[in-house]
Amino acid sequence: MSELYKLGIAEAREGLEKGDFTSEEIVRSVIERYHEKNAEIGAYVTFDEEGAIELARQNPKAVPIAIKDLINVRGQPCTCGSKILKGYVSPYDATVISNMKANGFIPCGRVNMDEFAMGSSTENSALALTRNPYDLTRVPGGSSGGSAAAVGGDMCIAALGTDTGGSIRQPASFCNCVGIKPSYGRVSRYGVTAFASSLDQVGPMTKSVKDSAILLKALAGHDKMDGTTPDEIVPDYEKLIENASMKGVKIGLPKEYFNVSGLDPEVKRITDEAVAKCVAAGAEVREVSLPHTEYAMAVYYIIAPAEASANLARFDGVRYGLRSDRSVDVYSLYTKSRAEGFGPEVKRRIIMGTYVLSSGYYDAYYGRAQKVRTLIKRDFDNVFNEVDVLLTPCAPTPAFKLGELQDPLTMYLNDLYTIPSALAGVCAASVPAGFTNDTKLPVGVQFICGGFEESRLLNICKSFEEINS
Ligand code: GLN
Repeated sequence: MSELYKLGIAEAREGLEKGDFTSEEIVRSVIERYHEKNAEIGAYVTFDEEGAIELARQNPKAVPIAIKDLINVRGQPCTCGSKILKGYVSPYDATVISNMKANGFIPCGRVNMDEFAMGSSTENSALALTRNPYDLTRVPGGSSGGSAAAVGGDMCIAALGTDTGGSIRQPASFCNCVGIKPSYGRVSRYGVTAFASSLDQVGPMTKSVKDSAILLKALAGHDKMDGTTPDEIVPDYEKLIENASMKGVKIGLPKEYFNVSGLDPEVKRITDEAVAKCVAAGAEVREVSLPHTEYAMAVYYIIAPAEASANLARFDGVRYGLRSDRSVDVYSLYTKSRAEGFGPEVKRRIIMGTYVLSSGYYDAYYGRAQKVRTLIKRDFDNVFNEVDVLLTPCAPTPAFKLGELQDPLTMYLNDLYTIPSALAGVCAASVPAGFTNDTKLPVGVQFICGGFEESRLLNICKSFEEINS
């Protein structure tokens, strides 16, 4: 009974239903594990232990979920991995949090992330260092590195992450968890601190595909506070994956994703083996093309910083968090608070974003990037006329060493496989596929389906999980 922290959502629900244990017992077990492991792994930044226990008492059948530290939960801090939100306490619940609570989940602990979700290793957190639970000398990935380390290190039952250009999928791959980036508009962004509003999505990071299906169902749906969420009934993902099968599934392998010089040979081997297993289970595989792939990185690094520069303008030392005590007037209050509060990567993005939006450069950079984004989206529309799903590597490498990637551009390249589908707004997942032979590190493969095709995506992921076990 003391190892309840090891459970996934489905098992926890079953035990709660049967009365084998209570929510409070699970929460206490997670807290015990947190005390035992957090000094080493650093997955959590804050943990309101009493608050979590109290919530569990009020909801004795609820499953506790770790929350990425940019999602607002009323009464809790929300640091976004930044110094600039020092002292801030959320006055309200994000819609994903109220949805979770209404569906038998409670928030339980806040997990680390790259500052404002900018990064791929969680090393850009201004608050704490998070290590990969499979190898403590390595990064957990990012920006949802705390979520991935908490799930992969059995420090929670499941977690919420966010994905703007890969931040759920890449850390899931590095830490051996299932991570789903829902289609743009599937899940409400209300109360989720905005990074790039045309890309951001919240999604589940879990120990199994079934758990992701259950949690996504709870998160998703229409919200009048977010106009991108359609007013349609959310399918019962859990039920729809009951008879998952690979038979007759048409899988596309985008050729642009396989002839990449930075693709690690072990990641390539594991991906090739995943393809072979799908074929053996009855899938049909063919090569396809996403011809505008090579522009995706450039487009992303114009659009995401442009949106971020606007979104982050609200952190000015007046309304939230840190206020510089070295300011002498209003202008220096803004500049000094921002200079002291933001870290180097966030500043770099704000400067890039402001530059591409400035008059004289707007058309050449931002306007052009929007046009190319449309072409990238069309690539996906076309390919999904031909196949049901794409299978690709999730990240070009397994988890790298802490401190190994010093140059921002090399770090950016780690998202090569996750950025195009984010720009297209379609849904995608990382599913554990195997371990490297030499370093014994987990590697995930990515499945990508069309917009609002989460049922199909989860079905294929579930089937892959079964044939791969
Ligand atoms: N690593 C990418 C970036 O730094 C993606 C981040 C994300 O998805 N939040 O922008």
